[in-house]
Amino acid sequence: MIYLTGDVHHAYRRNLEQRYSDKSEVQLALEYAVIAEKHGLKATLFCTGKTVEQEPDKMRELASRANVELGGHTYSAFESIPKEVKYLLGKIWGCSYGPRFIQERDISKTISAMKKIDVDISSWRTHAFSSNNVTQTLLADKGIMVLSDYINRKQTKPYKKNNLIHLPINTIVDHDSLLHAHVTEGSGPVGSQNNPGGLSAGEYLNILCAQVKEINEQKGDAVILCHPMCMHTLDGFDTFRLLCDYLSQYDSLFAREAIIHG
Ligand SMILES: [Zn+2]
Ligand SMILES: [Zn+2]
Repeated sequence: MIYLTGDVHHAYRRNLEQRYSDKSEVQLALEYAVIAEKHGLKATLFCTGKTVEQEPDKMRELASRANVELGGHTYSAFESIPKEVKYLLGKIWGCSYGPRFIQERDISKTISAMKKIDVDISSWRTHAFSSNNVTQTLLADKGIMVLSDYINRKQTKPYKKNNLIHLPINTIVDHDSLLHAHVTEGSGPVGSQNNPGGLSAGEYLNILCAQVKEINEQKGDAVILCHPMCMHTLDGFDTFRLLCDYLSQYDSLFAREAIIHG
């Protein structure tokens, strides 16, 4: 079993990668969804609330696709919070999503934005994996059922905690490991065991496919985070097509389906 997921951000000035594309992330998400569909794959796309404000028609189109589930990804991806303040929030609250009242307002704004295109979201991923226990309680109170946050290679089955089904990402993350767009040798995020940095497209694809295979051999569920924007700036979706071709041998689920399956 696999869960193919991607994060979709509205256009904002501080996003370096968007400078490498003449298309919006929402437009790219549509192209991504079409490719996934050609390979019989469902995709869960976690979108910021502001995508709806900026591109309501394209977001409606995305939401109407049978192979797409839309989830929440914060309202504005913290675009207006300076890096230093984010750092302080992390220090003070142990979470750069900030104190309860800020989180609550942000989650409500995101849910309301999605309602404008008649989408009731059930799934959530906090931008930059910034959630904590407070976030989880708030999300459950507001009707969110599935949280796909954090990276945990060892967690190969969904599990229940704080009234949410957790679906951690258990495979290599494209943005953190691939040489693409502004992420060049030495400039990218520091490599870790989960996400070795500086990989070529081929190396990334080999690692990801091997991980998906291994998890499925152990009867686990592979949770994949593959961003429309990263796949586009890497090579115009060539690697993503190869990935989808490989993944097509597995059954895919929406994040919200982890409620039944998990
Ligand atoms: Zn994000
Ligand atoms: Zn990227």
